[in-house]
Amino acid sequence: MDQVEAFCVKEKTMRVMKDPKEVTTKNGRRMLKGTCSVCGAPMNKFVSMKK
Ligand SMILES: [Zn+2]
Repeated sequence: MDQVEAFCVKEKTMRVMKDPKEVTTKNGRRMLKGTCSVCGAPMNKFVSMKK
């Protein structure tokens, strides 16, 4: 999988997400969940709908 960048709330900067997994929320939105490759904090990122 390509590298995914997401906002790390702990470091307040963009970091590469480690081990990203796609999940679907109850609202039907897709998002990626993973951990920060630098500090290990949990991260998530909404995935924009692509057609
Ligand atoms: Zn981090």
